[in-house]
Amino acid sequence: MENKFEELRKRCEEMAALGSAGALLGWDQNVYMPPKGAQARGRTLAVISELAHHKLTCRETGTLIADLYDWAQAKGYDSFEAAFLRAIKRDYDQEVKIPAELVKELSLATTASFEAWHKARKASDFAMFAPHLEKVAELNLRKAEALGYDKSPYDALLDLYDAGMRREKLDGIFAELAAGLTPVIKAINERADKVSSAPFKGDFAPAAQLGLALEIARALGYDLEAGRQDLAAHPFSSGILSPDDVRITTRTQADWLPACVYASIHETGHALYEQGFPGEFAFTPLASAASLGVHESQSRFWENLIGRSRPFAAWALPLYRKHFPGKFDSLTPEDIYRAANRSEASLIRVEADEVTYNLHIALRYEIETQLLDRSLKIKDAPELWNAKMKEYFGITPSNDAEGILQDVHWGYGMIGYFPSYTIGNLISAQLYAAIRKDLPGMDAMIEKGEFAPLLAWLRRKVHAQGRKYQPEELLDRAAGQKLSVKPFVEYIRTKYSALYGF
Ligand code: ZN
Repeated sequence: MENKFEELRKRCEEMAALGSAGALLGWDQNVYMPPKGAQARGRTLAVISELAHHKLTCRETGTLIADLYDWAQAKGYDSFEAAFLRAIKRDYDQEVKIPAELVKELSLATTASFEAWHKARKASDFAMFAPHLEKVAELNLRKAEALGYDKSPYDALLDLYDAGMRREKLDGIFAELAAGLTPVIKAINERADKVSSAPFKGDFAPAAQLGLALEIARALGYDLEAGRQDLAAHPFSSGILSPDDVRITTRTQADWLPACVYASIHETGHALYEQGFPGEFAFTPLASAASLGVHESQSRFWENLIGRSRPFAAWALPLYRKHFPGKFDSLTPEDIYRAANRSEASLIRVEADEVTYNLHIALRYEIETQLLDRSLKIKDAPELWNAKMKEYFGITPSNDAEGILQDVHWGYGMIGYFPSYTIGNLISAQLYAAIRKDLPGMDAMIEKGEFAPLLAWLRRKVHAQGRKYQPEELLDRAAGQKLSVKPFVEYIRTKYSALYGF
């Protein structure tokens, strides 16, 4: 059996190497590639993913998994071998169910829908995108049928991004979030001028923004010997080869400092997770996040729970002064804290603050679940979008570009992806509550810029586990809880009632 395991390991190593090559090409595509390179790059990436898909779904891999599964489980649930086989079996079972014909059709439809989405958004005309969205929904439904499910086809899609998540559970989560957050949003709207973000508006030299962002990333524990920071239009982080090469990107906006600083902290959070995967997991299916939601919990944790906290503002103020001489001299930590936490109902999800963000997801969730089960006609989707914006935020988009066409996900053919953002936000608040219990002196540490104990906690409980456990299992082990809305809503209510005085 040991020999067979080595054989499977070698196959996984090859898949991981292909994945790494694809990741590096993808990173380059977003950072350095000249525009004319796009087509050739697309072809190369398609070949790489085809090779990886074949390596995973071929008969030899299937036989090895079947032969080894019980042997590995017998080594104990927590053993490397058992977790390795659980992870690779899950990947295999999913991929092998989707017929090659459907994979091809999805890939063609996605290329067309992405282009159509791009043009439609530019023209702010949903009708141009509608037939493509129809096709995307139809193909996703076929994919769900191929994967199989108990209750809702949406469950099969969700499971691709967040193992074990179900629509039934999310219905409850979003209802509880809407009930908990709507009164907070209303109270904030009535006191909009209580909190000012003026300190972060002005003219900030891009080079100084990047210097500041990198200094913060390094202070949080980001290892620059195993990573680097570059510019990209849509910031992302990317693990290239192993925990030893995890790169981040950011952007700058001259008149709005948080665009760079908080995008950078967010991506640093993602990167710290991947830099924390154990070395022995490299080139195995375990060198990966437990789920998209857990990945997002790491970025949100640093961006919001820590990066927008009062002690963080006190620590960061001298850095703001250092990188922008004269601009922050008369400001206090409290000014910085308040500026970092102005909340405002806005039309665009990626610009939304931590109070309103999840309701942007709730409305996308309602629309995509209804599109998938055909209870909503495509042509009626913009109307539902606008009605929900009014219901949650009291504002209405003036056109499709700032409404239903704003996000790329459906254009990319992805249905079932959005909820992972909210799951991440919820987990981040649960982890935060757990860390506070374990590290009573946390605020004082943050104020001194001592982030190492926090990172060590996350490393131990989350990062070092890689993909050994299912997301809810990992959360239970780390925080002793099931996924819950309460800690998040509690955190929001406490923080913002104090900020806005209600
Ligand atoms: Zn993220």
